[in-house]
Amino acid sequence: MRLILLGPPGAGKGTQAQRLVAKHGIVQLSTGDMLRAAAAAGTPVGLRAKEIMERGELVPDEVVVAIIADRIGEADARRGFVLDGFPRTVPQAEALDRLLKERGLDLDAVIELKVDEAILMKRIETRIAEMTARGEKVRADDNAEALKKRLDAYRAQTAPLVDYYARTGQLKTVDGMAPIDAVTAEIDRLLRPARPGRSRAKTAGRRASRARAAKTKTARARAARRGPKASRGKAAARATGGKGRKRAAKAAPGSRKKAGRPVAKRGRAGRAGTRKTRAKRLTRAR
Ligand code: ADP
Repeated sequence: MRLILLGPPGAGKGTQAQRLVAKHGIVQLSTGDMLRAAAAAGTPVGLRAKEIMERGELVPDEVVVAIIADRIGEADARRGFVLDGFPRTVPQAEALDRLLKERGLDLDAVIELKVDEAILMKRIETRIAEMTARGEKVRADDNAEALKKRLDAYRAQTAPLVDYYARTGQLKTVDGMAPIDAVTAEIDRLLRPARPGRSRAKTAGRRASRARAAKTKTARARAARRGPKASRGKAAARATGGKGRKRAAKAAPGSRKKAGRPVAKRGRAGRAGTRKTRAKRLTRAR
């Protein structure tokens, strides 16, 4: 399975990516994590990226595209991957299309986590507070100034990807404001293969034909209770031009007696009715 998670900083891409990894046995490819690792390792690319990241700006397209091109070719990515934080610009998306095409691969879906921007700042502030409380190191770009820049960059450069993937028909949008588990459940639902031939119209049709079959069954059972003469119904009617049915109807009450069922025990359908319906009738009469 090959997926893209799309959404602004703090939308929950990382959290959902980890759950997708656990569920589908795929790898999470986060360009942010890879760039941070390169920066920590002190590689020339990493050091260049570090400054850009700390300002909350985007690293040049060719840098991230080169990283992704190498990464998706590695053995552990063969079973599939979830891209988190890539692509972030239209040229990156176009480069990814080319990369996948060259390798004969397809994307299964692009999942957009739609969130209310006003709430994002709050979410990230909470994340920072929680990490600090746990004694964890807070990211250098998790501060109000860099965060504002990251959101601006998202709006200007990444948000157009929503239209880009809507045009290719790969976009699936999820309410990222819902609780984490609800978002996961919604993503699972979207990724579940549609059961062939299970359209709503077909299900309704199937329900109707089941109801018809049940009716026929009840009618047949009733006719059987009435006895052989009554069940002549259709055939007799055809043979006698309609009279047969009338005759069969007339024969019905008698044939019930012949079947040896006392009138009082005819059950709900019987004229006497059940004890309950009789009681009701009595109450109404009073
Ligand atoms: P978030 O999505 O919360 O902003 P990320 O960890 O995905 O955090 O990214 C952190 C930073 O890494 C970005 O602000 C940017 O500088 C850089 N970065 C990550 N992915 C890309 C990308 N695809 N293109 C350009 N820059 C990127």
